Amino acid sequence: MPPKHIYYSKFPSLCHNASNVIVKSKNGEYVTQNCTTCGNADPLDISGVPTFYCPVCNKSVERVKRTKSLYDCRHCKIKWELATIVPDWKELFP
Ligand SMILES: [Zn+2]
Ligand SMILES: [Zn+2]
Repeated sequence: MPPKHIYYSKFPSLCHNASNVIVKSKNGEYVTQNCTTCGNADPLDISGVPTFYCPVCNKSVERVKRTKSLYDCRHCKIKWELATIVPDWKELFP
């Protein structure tokens, strides 16, 4: 298991104007952006995603074209599903 990293959306939450932390969603398949004040989950908007870094080599990774959450590290030649490198929803909002 790669280490988990905390990433925040570029946009604040609509409900509290607070940071939106990116987590693996409740159902475990997708990522959501959750308000750090109340935990409210919203779909992660592609335009709001920050730069993600490879959990192995720490270089920035690029989203694979036409995919929603698959990222490609050209350095390691590994593809990462975003949900595997961010914390689980229940780790941050127990
Ligand atoms: Zn909120
Ligand atoms: Zn890498």
